[in-house]
Amino acid sequence: MTQRDPRYDILFEEVRIGPVTAPNRFVQVPHCNGVSDLAPEAVARMREIKAEGGWGIVSTEIAEVGPEAEFWPFPSLHLWHDDHIAPIARMADAIHRHGALAAVELGHIGLAAGNRASRRPVLGPASHLILESVEPFQSRAMDSSDIRRVREQHRAAARRARSAGFDVVYAYASHGLSIFSQFLQRRFNDRGDEYGGSLENRARLLREALEDMKEDIGESCAVALRFAVNEIDNDPVQGRELVEMLKDIPDLWDVNISEWPSDSQTSRFAKEGFQEQDTAFVKSIVDRPVVGVGRFTSPDTMVSQVRRGIIDLVGAARPSIADPFLPRKIREGRPEDIRECIGCNVCVSGEFSYSPIRCTQNPTMMEESRRGWHPENLPPAGSNDTILIIGGGPAGLECAHVLARRGYTVTLAEARGELGGRVLRESALPGLGEWRRVADHRIHGLQQMAHAELYTSSALDAETALSFGAQHIVVATGATWRRDGRGRWSAEPLTVSAGARILTPDDIMDGMVPNGRVVVYDEDGTYLGNVIAELLKSVGTDVTLVTPASEIAPYLALTMEQETVAARMTELEIPVVRLKSMSRIADNHVVLDCVHGGEGLDLPASSVVLVTSRVPDDSLYRDLSATAPTEASISKIGDCDAPHLIAGAVHAGHSWARALDSPSERTPPPLPHP
Ligand code: ADP
Ligand code: SF4
Repeated sequence: MTQRDPRYDILFEEVRIGPVTAPNRFVQVPHCNGVSDLAPEAVARMREIKAEGGWGIVSTEIAEVGPEAEFWPFPSLHLWHDDHIAPIARMADAIHRHGALAAVELGHIGLAAGNRASRRPVLGPASHLILESVEPFQSRAMDSSDIRRVREQHRAAARRARSAGFDVVYAYASHGLSIFSQFLQRRFNDRGDEYGGSLENRARLLREALEDMKEDIGESCAVALRFAVNEIDNDPVQGRELVEMLKDIPDLWDVNISEWPSDSQTSRFAKEGFQEQDTAFVKSIVDRPVVGVGRFTSPDTMVSQVRRGIIDLVGAARPSIADPFLPRKIREGRPEDIRECIGCNVCVSGEFSYSPIRCTQNPTMMEESRRGWHPENLPPAGSNDTILIIGGGPAGLECAHVLARRGYTVTLAEARGELGGRVLRESALPGLGEWRRVADHRIHGLQQMAHAELYTSSALDAETALSFGAQHIVVATGATWRRDGRGRWSAEPLTVSAGARILTPDDIMDGMVPNGRVVVYDEDGTYLGNVIAELLKSVGTDVTLVTPASEIAPYLALTMEQETVAARMTELEIPVVRLKSMSRIADNHVVLDCVHGGEGLDLPASSVVLVTSRVPDDSLYRDLSATAPTEASISKIGDCDAPHLIAGAVHAGHSWARALDSPSERTPPPLPHP
């Protein structure tokens, strides 16, 4: 084992937190996973692997404290009945098996609840339209018995958490998803009683709940507060006052910025350690341990924040998803092996698309129990077969990396001069630099292994590919952006005049810069259309972004970037035309239809960038299938098979590499999986 750099020793110091002691400074803070108690074993195994990977405290996602705090249709845990103790105890047990402390986040989401299953009235400080939904439900303004009940629910849930074996029990006041933060904010709380008015009054419910929890479980469990320092009326001064007011109550302060889109900003908009400026003040007020987040993946940044007194404990959700073994890799003196989070929020999109969490960098996420996948341990090669992989994008690189780690001899051939495929090309676009980490991690790993041969500038045809004599050929040749405009709205190729200048994202990534007036037409609805508009604007182009959707980039609602992107377009003075589909592209203008049948629009355009959909590049696969002997093993994976997110390509590469000698891998059991 390599010697750990002594600079990082501080990260492995124990930290006393009330009645418990964390074995090191790494905290996997609460994060949802799209599954929760629909598949308790799957979640327990996912958390267990975090503990195995060295996180000193591993937390659950939100556990509802009562039937009025219903997270549905988003999966969550429950602790409002004694029957809920046994399922959640599995998670604590799994975490304890590796010496970590188990934490649970109790939650009452107040106005953010829909109570669609329990059919109870939503509760809030006042009668208010519910949050997080377009449904016209309003809350009941809580009376004194409701307040007593919320307090009692927190007490009872805390006692159940202790019975389930948890060491740290959180009260939750963040992300606009907490009855406590709703009481704290004047925009929701106009009460005239002792729970409204002054900050002291608005903080009363939170204070009482914390004191109740301390009274009931404080001797054996640490009571933590997860608090968004800027959430109270968007006023950091009140945030500071609240910290001063409650500084001696929680054993652990877990601080962040609100709401969730601000807390989990993507790398396009915020870099590692981005919360420091907002949360740094907390440690100057409290003498209890403070955990902070900021998409930390660099041990140097972590050490710097600890040494400078910004945080005591390094909190992480996304970095722990991308690499559950991050702490262990630092501890073992191999930080260069860390699979760094790229800040894309595909993990978050799982929650908003009601699906099990997935991660661009870590294809084993939420496959730990269902498929028995471990992020670090792989089954050894089942034969001496050799494998030729054609295409060095995320699918080909992941496939090669996993096969080589298993001990297979692999050859990877890439047509371009550099490996990385679409991640390399997209990472050169504004704000997407960190995406390169998907390629870098795998290339670095492959370069360490003598039985992996990497060839660039090697465009293979079927004959050359077959001449390698490999037992298996895996085609991972990717996809190309369409030039004919077919996409989500446009079922047929667009009508284009002979003199019109059409470009695709591939042309832009190849360095073409259109001049004059440019229309970027986006039916893809993700980041590329608006990133390209941003790029063109930055080089002085007069660019307009057109979308048939009602909002810019609908997919980015799932990654919580949509509003930020809309604001960025405004800031850059890029006009955005919504609800207009492309009807025709003429020589010097485009003709747009109103998607609702209203008036169309003509826009001058000397060039049009079509960001619509992609065509799989599967011609090599088809040639190979036609010319190879019938018994030959020829497969296609990733975008050349079915264009997808980068996460989809990585997962496809990973799956193939595991299934090579394990046919059962090809038909995974369904989730939920008990
Ligand atoms: P995916 O997301 O599925 O990994 P990418 O488009 O990112 O797909 O990567 C596909 C890679 O395959 C590209 O880098 C491309 O240059 C390469 N490629 C395409 N055709 C060939 C070929 N015939 N020989 C070698 N490499 C190829
Ligand atoms: Fe990070 Fe993206 Fe993985 Fe989320 S999906 S953990 S943001 S790499």
